[in-house]
Formats: sequence, C-alpha cells, structure tokens
Amino acid sequence: MFVLGAVFGSFACCQAWRWRWRVLGKKDLGQWSVCMHCKKRLKWYDNIPLVSWLTLRGRCRYCHAKIGVADFLSELSLAVAFLMLTWAYLLPVLENWGLLRLNPDYLVTRLAIFVMILVLLIVLTVLAVYDAKWGELPTVLLVLAIVFGGIVALLKVHEAMILGESVWGTVVNLAIGVAILAGTCFVIYKASRERLMGSGDWLLALALALALANWWLALWTIFLANLLGDVIALPGAMKTGKHVVHFGPFLVGAFVIVLVLGNCLPLLLG
Ligand SMILES: [Zn+2]
Repeated sequence: MFVLGAVFGSFACCQAWRWRWRVLGKKDLGQWSVCMHCKKRLKWYDNIPLVSWLTLRGRCRYCHAKIGVADFLSELSLAVAFLMLTWAYLLPVLENWGLLRLNPDYLVTRLAIFVMILVLLIVLTVLAVYDAKWGELPTVLLVLAIVFGGIVALLKVHEAMILGESVWGTVVNLAIGVAILAGTCFVIYKASRERLMGSGDWLLALALALALANWWLALWTIFLANLLGDVIALPGAMKTGKHVVHFGPFLVGAFVIVLVLGNCLPLLLG
C-alpha cells in the first residue's frame, strides 16, 4: 500500500502540472514524462516514485535543473496516507473477515468506503499540489472531489442502515459536519471578501465534510488544519513578509489525520 500510494502520489503531481499547462493554454507535454526545464523525455529508471528523486538528489539527470520538493513530498505524503488508512480501515476488516463474511452487504460497504476514500485522496492530492504551487483550486477537480465525497457519505448512510442505526441521525450528523467545516470556510471567505480564504476552500471543505459524515470529526479537521497552518506556514510567512498562506494542503493533511484517528481510536479505546 505504501508503494501504491507513492505511485499515485507521483501520478497526482503529474496531473497537477498537466492541468496547469492546459489552463495556461501551453503546448501539450505529450504522453511521456519530461523534464520541465529542458523538456527531455525521462527514462523509466528516472521515473520511479521516491527512489529516483533521492538518487538524482532532486535534479534533472540531463540539465541538472532542480525538480522541486513538491514531487517528492506528494509521493511521500500519499504513500504514508495510504499506509495509515490501510491500518485504520482495511486491517480491521481483514482481521474480522470470518465474522464479516456472514454479513456480505456490510463487508462490501466497508471495503467500498475504504476504496472510495483512497480515490478521493488522489484527487485531493492533485488539488493540494496545485494549491501549494499556484494558489488556485481548479473547479473541475473540486466538483470531482465533492462527487467522490458524496459517494462516501452515501455509503456511510447505507452502513448505518445495515447496522440498524437511525438514518435520520446519520444525515443530521452529516449536515452539522458540513455546516461546521464548509460553513466556517464559506463565512470567512465571504466576510473577508476573499482576503483570508479563496472561493475554492469552502468547496474543498465541503468534499471533506461529506466524506467524514460526522460533526465531531469535522470540528477536529478545521481545528487541526488551522493548527498545522500556524505551525508550518506561519513562521515562513512572517520571515519572508509574504502573508498569503494556501489553506488547501493543510485542510487535506488534517482530513487524513482525523480520518485515521477517528476510525481507529474508538477501536483502541474500547
Ligand atoms: Zn532537464
């Protein structure tokens, strides 16, 4: 799962670049990966996630231009995220396979939630890389994230039905989560007239709130995203005098941490 995460992290970073090229109306980069500086086509052994970046020390083999740390970070982040989510979601399913097999509907729903979260996370990584590099969130990708988040929400409602929990209660829980996470971002965006938060942030938050489907986890996500932003981005912003901090990557990071802890803490505690 770590290797799979690294591969999709590499894919996501490529997609961010290709999307940017399309938005700028530049010439298509072609089917193969190229150096963004000298446009030379990369050999397969320079295209291995994590490994190639480390062996080339973050530079192009041909022109020695810097590749940038975003590629390496997105590969590492998604690899770690895939690993943690497997531990939190897939492992409990595999450990209780014999028992869960007696209820195929529940088993399939649990597996579907796990897979959909991984798919959502790939789209979120493209958005996070794009936001970190260019300070924008492409609308088409936001819509895709909201659709995938919505599918996770529907699966969780279905799961509640199988477990005999109140569907109404699950939907209310989901709605309060959306109000807390997306609502907060929307209010800050409107009240500050886009100075503190962009129009894309609240749509990104909406996708996350749908996938969480839980108001308590939504509250933790907004808290943790702000905390991560303060700890990681603020010192740099103060030093350089650049006061623009792109919130997207922190929202996505907080989302993964909350998703993992939210699913395994109840197991660990009881
Ligand atoms: Zn080059």
